[in-house]
Formats: sequence, C-alpha cells, structure tokens
Amino acid sequence: MDTSEQMDSEYQYKQRQVAKNKGKEFRLGEGRISGYCSLMLGGLSLLAVIAYLYPSMLTTTELRKLYDAEQLQVVLKYGMYTSIGLGFLTFILNNGKYKFLGLTGISLTLVAFLLGGYQIPVGPVEPKELSLGVDWLILAFLGSIVVFVSLEKLFPKYKDQLIMRPEWGVDLFYFCFNHLAISAILVFANYHVSHFDWAVSATLQQSIRDIPIWIQFVVIVLCADFVLYWEHRAYHEIQLLWPIHAVHHSIENIDWLAGSRGHFVQVFSERAMVMIPLYLLGVEQAALNIYVTFAALQAVLIHCNVGISFGPLKYILVTPQFHHWHHSSEKPAIDTNYSAHTIVFDRLFKTYHFPKQHWPADYGTTQRLPRTVVGQTLYPLKVWGKRMKRRYAK
Ligand SMILES: [Zn+2]
Ligand SMILES: [Zn+2]
Repeated sequence: MDTSEQMDSEYQYKQRQVAKNKGKEFRLGEGRISGYCSLMLGGLSLLAVIAYLYPSMLTTTELRKLYDAEQLQVVLKYGMYTSIGLGFLTFILNNGKYKFLGLTGISLTLVAFLLGGYQIPVGPVEPKELSLGVDWLILAFLGSIVVFVSLEKLFPKYKDQLIMRPEWGVDLFYFCFNHLAISAILVFANYHVSHFDWAVSATLQQSIRDIPIWIQFVVIVLCADFVLYWEHRAYHEIQLLWPIHAVHHSIENIDWLAGSRGHFVQVFSERAMVMIPLYLLGVEQAALNIYVTFAALQAVLIHCNVGISFGPLKYILVTPQFHHWHHSSEKPAIDTNYSAHTIVFDRLFKTYHFPKQHWPADYGTTQRLPRTVVGQTLYPLKVWGKRMKRRYAK
C-alpha cells in the first residue's frame, strides 16, 4: 500500500446532504412544468426560425451535412404548437405565479410564426468559415434535455437536487457560448494543428486505416485520452494555468449542464490539443465520427447527477462517479482523476482516486471563485495581478 492509498483508507468519507426544497421543486399539476416547457420551446422555436432566415451566418457548415433542414422543419412545427399548447395549459392549471411563463412562451412562438414559422424555404447555403452555431445549440440542448435530464430523473444520485439548482443560469450561459462558438473553436483548432504538418506520416496513417474501424476507434480514444490527461494535469499542476481551469472546478452542484462551465481559454485550448492526435492518426471518417459522438456524450454524462454504477465498465471508462471525485474539494481527491475517456492514464501515472463505495460530500474549489460569468472570466487576471503585486512588493 503506498502512502496515498494509506491516506485514502484512513479518510473518513461523509455523505453529501442535499436539502429538499419543496418551494422550488417541479410538481405535476401546478403549471410550473408546462410554463417552463412552453417558454423553452418558444425560445428555441424563435431561435430556429431566425437560423432558417440567416443560415449562412447562424448555422454550422460541418453540422449542416448531418441533418436534413426540411425534415427538421417538421420537428419545429410540432415544437411551436406544443409551446402554444403548454402555454395555454399553464393558464388552465395556474391562476397566478406561472401564467407569465406560459404567456412568454406563447408570445415567443407567435413572433416565430410572424417571421415565417416552419415554412421558410430551404435552399443551398453559402458555406462560411465563421458562423454562429445556433443549429448546434438548439439540437444539443434538446438532445440533452431528452437524454440526460431523463437519465437524471430516472436514476438520480441526489434525488432532491433540483433541475434549476443554484447557478443554473451561469451554466446555461456557458452551454450557449460553447455551442454558438463551435465554428470559431474549429477554426482555431485547425489553425493550431496546421503547425504539426511536419509530424504527419503517410505510412503510419495508411497502416492505421488498414485496421478495423472499431480498433481505429480504440486507438483514437487512447491517444486523445493521453493528450487530454496531460493537458488537464498541466492545468492543475502549473500554478500559472490553474486559475483558468479553476472556473470549471467552481461548480458546486454537478449535473448535465454544469459540465459546460469552463473558461473560454480552456474550451479553445482543449479542442486544439485533442485535434493533434486526431490529425496525426488520420483515421477513417467513420471511426472519427464514432469518436466525436462518444466523446461529446461522455463529457456530458460524467457530470450528470446519476447514480448508475456502470458495472465492469467503471474499471475501464471514466464514469460519473469517477469524474465527480475529480470535482471534489476533499483532500484525498484533490489533483486526481484527470482522464477524460478511460481510467488507464490515471492508473498508470498514479493519480487515481476512486473509493467505489463513496461519492464526494463536497464539490468545488478550496478558495471560492466569483459566482458570475464576468467574474469567472476575469478571475485568472485577478489572480495573476495579485501574484505580480506580491512579487514586486517584496
Ligand atoms: Zn480539473
Ligand atoms: Zn468536469
């Protein structure tokens, strides 16, 4: 038993307490659920209609290849009618408080109808290198609600943790930013990777393309994980970089949305770094698509408030419990569990902390960060400024 394992076995693990908040809970029949759903669908419908009006500015070139814009108009049609229906339901169920949510939902949908609704003609779109990923934002948001919020409700770890828990608005902002900025992130990542042309080997790429797709997928997972492990570890262990990554660790209520919280410098640098192995390996498009889907789903899942054990998979892959430990502010867990995809590199480089009978009792950073997006974005500058002052004061 090495010293860190000894420390872990002596540590007194506690259980996290999440207080029930009856006043803020979603309960059927109150008009609150229908009000928020109407508002959400109204807002998304309006965004979608604006994206249909200005597709070259507001949709993503790469993503457009993967969906049929005309078929999605059918989804939009049902979304708009559902928003209006739920808006009216709010009025029927509720005589005060939540009417305003339904009214706002209906109003947003009516504006969407006035702008052309689900019948805006779809034609060829001029590809632009830089655009806002409104399509990516809408699809990812709806997909996440359907998949991850359902998982959290069906298999919650903390069943009293609310969907609209403290700071959900801050994390929603990060979610929107990360998705809207997708093309800027890709442009930056491609520019960054163009500096690695010298390392490309046609022979290596050909021999990788000769192996079966699923092995190509395993190779990318391991290579990407290796890069992400060291990038993540650098953010923790290099003093200059920590204040940037501390923003991601300032989350105190972890769920599907919380994983989006991250300083924009980290968001851009992480994608740029992971692009290096993807570029150098030159795997087939099919393997790359499987990897990108796997990585995107896993990144959200590991933050989810789900208590699923994942059986033997937890000995191979990064699971919610494993990554929740990475977010713990408890002593044995600090600076551990850096991996993004598999647990291999944490095992190999001795940064593995996974007491399987326990979950963290406390999340967050040991020094509390500002609680607003602006405060968090400026936080690294504040820390670096303070350090400079201290250095010159000596
Ligand atoms: Zn971290
Ligand atoms: Zn995380």
